[in-house]
Amino acid sequence: MMEEGKMQNEKLKIINGRIPGAAVVLVLMLSFVSGSMAADAVVWSSAAPSGQAAPVASPSATVILSAPATEALPPRPQIDQAAIVQSQRDRLGEMRRTLQTALVAKESKNYILFSDLDPKMRNAILVWLEDLRTKLMARLAIPAEQRLWDGKCLVVVFSQQEALDAFARRFDRHLVTHSRGYFVLEARQAGGPRLVHIATYQPAEGGIEHFRDVLVHESTHALVEMYRESVPLPLWVHEGLAEYMTVEIDPGLRVGKEVPAYQRAGTEPYVSIQRILTEPFPPSDIQAYEVSMSLIDYLASRDPDGIRRFLDLMKDGTRGEEALGQAYPGLNYKELERRWRNWCLRWYAPPEKAKS
Ligand SMILES: [Zn+2]
Repeated sequence: MMEEGKMQNEKLKIINGRIPGAAVVLVLMLSFVSGSMAADAVVWSSAAPSGQAAPVASPSATVILSAPATEALPPRPQIDQAAIVQSQRDRLGEMRRTLQTALVAKESKNYILFSDLDPKMRNAILVWLEDLRTKLMARLAIPAEQRLWDGKCLVVVFSQQEALDAFARRFDRHLVTHSRGYFVLEARQAGGPRLVHIATYQPAEGGIEHFRDVLVHESTHALVEMYRESVPLPLWVHEGLAEYMTVEIDPGLRVGKEVPAYQRAGTEPYVSIQRILTEPFPPSDIQAYEVSMSLIDYLASRDPDGIRRFLDLMKDGTRGEEALGQAYPGLNYKELERRWRNWCLRWYAPPEKAKS
């Protein structure tokens, strides 16, 4: 049986390391530690040595909020999407040989799945992924046809953690210590194709809800990162959207994720959330994750279209607080906090109402 692991600890890593071929690799990684409630937090780590996965930064080293080079990209040449998809399909053979696993390919419109799970699970995974993409695009009012990545998003799901470890080391030069999955932006040469893959594992028995939570969370990072250009976004926005989408896709998760936000809003004496809005939070800070979720939830309740405007302004280079004020007139971080706090205490589930 799968251990009763709960999402406890997420690390988001952006690896600026130049790997051979001048690709830039970006990794967002979810990790699971057994025994405690959903806590994920994020580390944006600095550049790694060439070809090496960056070590996870300690909290004191996480103030760097950086993303891969964002200098204006020249117009992209016409990219042969069919050829890219074919080359992605062709990776299966090498993976099977190298890892000695019985990976099977299955495709949907926007995703290619390589997995050794049973056919039912493979189908379910593709349905979730397409559903998430549709809902997130709708939430952000992005036309459904808009291309976020070249080819398809490659999703690799193993039934064994050891296989994920081996895959990560061999194909991504990445160490997945205590990690449940990660997202990689493979290449970002100016004008070149933008390829993405997600790698994770799911033991054959049990834990499906958590697995879905992981997939939705990671895929949201991928979608948000790949929408238009990749730019540094405030951590609370990235994590808030990722957590918000897990609740949108699976409303059963909502109450459990509201509780930490409610508790923070009602802390006596009250502790301001300005640090969550302005600084990266450490991997162990569950509350910061769900406060971030609730901030996005509040903004969506006030004006759902504003989320897209907010994101667009930041993708255009406007800084977080200024973009917020333009997308939501009257809001700066202080005012957002004041209104968020009142809203949370009014509408969110107090702990005594939450199921354990
Ligand atoms: Zn995350």
